[in-house]
Amino acid sequence: MPMSLLSVVVPCYREADNLPSLHGAIIDATSSAGLAWELILVDDGSPDATGAVAEQIADQDPRVRAIALSRNFGKESALLAGLRVARGDRVLLMDADLQHPTALIPAMVEAMGPGIDQVIARRSRAGEPWLRKVASQGYYRLMNRISDVPLADGEGDFRLLSRRAVDALLGLGEVTRFSKGLFSWIGFSTVSLDYENVPRAGGASSWSLRGLANYGIDGAISFTNKPLRLATWAGLWMILLTVLYLVWLIWQVVVQGIEVPGYVTLVALITGMGGAQLLFLGILGEYIGRIFVEVKGRPHYVVKSDSARTPDARDQ
Ligand code: UDP
Ligand code: MG
Repeated sequence: MPMSLLSVVVPCYREADNLPSLHGAIIDATSSAGLAWELILVDDGSPDATGAVAEQIADQDPRVRAIALSRNFGKESALLAGLRVARGDRVLLMDADLQHPTALIPAMVEAMGPGIDQVIARRSRAGEPWLRKVASQGYYRLMNRISDVPLADGEGDFRLLSRRAVDALLGLGEVTRFSKGLFSWIGFSTVSLDYENVPRAGGASSWSLRGLANYGIDGAISFTNKPLRLATWAGLWMILLTVLYLVWLIWQVVVQGIEVPGYVTLVALITGMGGAQLLFLGILGEYIGRIFVEVKGRPHYVVKSDSARTPDARDQ
């Protein structure tokens, strides 16, 4: 039987300082376990020297493949680019910033026994800012209520996938890729291992608060139609309340003979209804916007260079 190959796929954005240590850490972690591996570094259009450093590492170590995208397409696209070229029968996804402990790799490979297709390394939130912890817990609670696939806190992109899990993921062609949901959607038996959260080795996280919020909305919209259903229900309730209110008004006028002052009620109704309509138009817009993006059918990324291809082949 040919020796099994482990592909390590790493999306990199502004990670020039971290790549050499990541490469070293992977060598250290895998040598003791005697694993055959390849490392795929996908430079996601970094403005710094990430691409050059990745190419340098690939030049020195034939097990490393450096792919550069033509601009910043986002982590999900960079991950996909790496997944598509991974040749291993097991594929490990991890970040470049050494927040994912490479020491866990042998244990993860070990944990992928027969019948197991995903080994998830789950990060504990110890040591994180209080506000972030509460916000993410709230987010996951909400998501699990509305989403069609279960999502677990701390289970991110640090995971080992079997070949059939990778092929299943590659079969999902959507443009707006919310990996957490996609991993969950493909199913298969999974096991998880826990690890302590560690701060980034160098550089800065590229997530802004706004970026995180947008990511959250992507997640909510990609895996459920419930917001649309909510709009329908809210509309029905509004109609019911209006009818009740009208009955009450008529009763006041006819039975009690009270002249009802209508101005405040009118303003409240107009602004309230206007707000609700705008909100639900926004929700509709989110889905339509997604349809727009999907029907264009653009590729997820454009490759600028690939160390596995010779320069001549690239020019043709
Ligand atoms: N990343 C990427 N493209 C981007 C942003 C991030 O490829 O546009 C990579 C980044 O280099 C890292 C991983 O995605 O390897 C996770 O990013 P980061 O550490 O900024 O996110 P966090 O760990 O804070 O969730
Ligand atoms: Mg990170």
